[in-house]
Amino acid sequence: MAQIIDGKAVSAAVKEEVAQETAKLKEEKGLKVGLAVVIVGNNPASRVYVNNKKKACEAVGFQSFEYAMDEDTTQEQLLDLVNVLNRDARVNGILVQLPLPSHIDEKAVINAISPEKDVDAFHPVNVGRIMIGDYAFLPCTPAGVMRLIASTGVDITGKQCVVIGRSNIVGKPMAMLLLQQNGTVTICHSKTKDLKEVCLGADILVVAIGRAKFVTGDMIKEGAVVIDVGMDRDENGKLCGDVDFESAEKKAGYITPVPGGVGPMTIAMLMKNTLTAAKQQAGLE
Ligand code: NAP
Repeated sequence: MAQIIDGKAVSAAVKEEVAQETAKLKEEKGLKVGLAVVIVGNNPASRVYVNNKKKACEAVGFQSFEYAMDEDTTQEQLLDLVNVLNRDARVNGILVQLPLPSHIDEKAVINAISPEKDVDAFHPVNVGRIMIGDYAFLPCTPAGVMRLIASTGVDITGKQCVVIGRSNIVGKPMAMLLLQQNGTVTICHSKTKDLKEVCLGADILVVAIGRAKFVTGDMIKEGAVVIDVGMDRDENGKLCGDVDFESAEKKAGYITPVPGGVGPMTIAMLMKNTLTAAKQQAGLE
């Protein structure tokens, strides 16, 4: 039976570190840390994410600035706001909640955010810096996964690592981070042949597909570290992951649950990135 990796506990520890450092910066340097969160339209899931980010900011002692814009906001209006926030010294990090309404070009908006304030690490400059291993901050979900793997004590060096999914926000950066930690990395996607065979070779398996319970116990190597990034709904509408937890925990050595695994890490790493941005902008890092 696998050991459960407790994402709530690990994320609480990250937030505690951030809170302590934030308090110290304020006390010793008079520095306040600020995150601006921009939401456009009325997507209910986005609303929940933005509220959670606001709460996390309060918990670690950041100032949070929320900009809620109407669904019919034009691209120009949104770009104007991003430019204002780029110049606002109180704002260390800017997060534009995705997805944006379809009439707005997400790429144009991401490209407009100053790379120094791009705490999601989606800007091409930050993506490029991850490729060459010279990064200021890492995209929050893959960074959270790395922290969860570290919490197991398993050394990535020399391990066969398999990432299922090649999205720009999860799969690709995930693979780069595992590579930087000396893993031997395979990236799988919807056209991969013999997925089960590839997965069975994985000492570390990271699954980011978006299909409920897709990876089953018979695809997992005995003792593997299994990280489930998926946030899906099962046949009863209940939140679940991309991994069939019940069969997988019988084979894995370590496994993340859904909920309570990767999910809480993403916001914790966002707080960490915002603190890093603030320190860099103040010339402290
Ligand atoms: P995405 O952009 O839709 O990418 C999905 C990837 O999975 C694609 O690369 C796709 O391959 C691959 N895929 C789909 N079906 C497959 C199959 N049958 N076999 C192998 N690969 C397959 O998704 P994403 O944004 O990376 O998100 C993935 C999951 O993670 C979702 O459930 C999402 O909700 C969740 N997520 C969670 C967090 C968190 O904080 N916990 C954060 C971000 C995402 P192709 O490229 O060939 O199409």
